[in-house]
Amino acid sequence: MSDKKAEGLRNDWRYKNMDLLKGVKLEFKRYRAYSETWDHDHCAGCHAKFAEFDGPDILHYGYATCDDYIYGVEYEWVCEQCFADLHPVMEWVVVGDSPERVRHRYKEKDKKEKAPPNNPLGP
Ligand SMILES: [Zn+2]
Repeated sequence: MSDKKAEGLRNDWRYKNMDLLKGVKLEFKRYRAYSETWDHDHCAGCHAKFAEFDGPDILHYGYATCDDYIYGVEYEWVCEQCFADLHPVMEWVVVGDSPERVRHRYKEKDKKEKAPPNNPLGP
């Protein structure tokens, strides 16, 4: 990446929001509510909304902080767009599975949970 491009990214308004996240570990995950009373979060960069419930513009997947972050695991979330745009200057260390694998895992899990019970009449 050219210095000019790096400079441009450092001037990005989202970059300024993510001071504390520089160089931390991030893991791609499905969003989980932090607690019963804290049911959504916002992207640390652009403030896009993460939640478990569905809705317009609600994100269900993103990059979450890990145990090396001062406020702990899943305290901050970064959306895929900010991740893609800003990782060249944020020096994030990505841990865990790739987005494709994580999504696939949950798709399989949802399928199982939604599957109808076995036919009670049996074979
Ligand atoms: Zn974002």
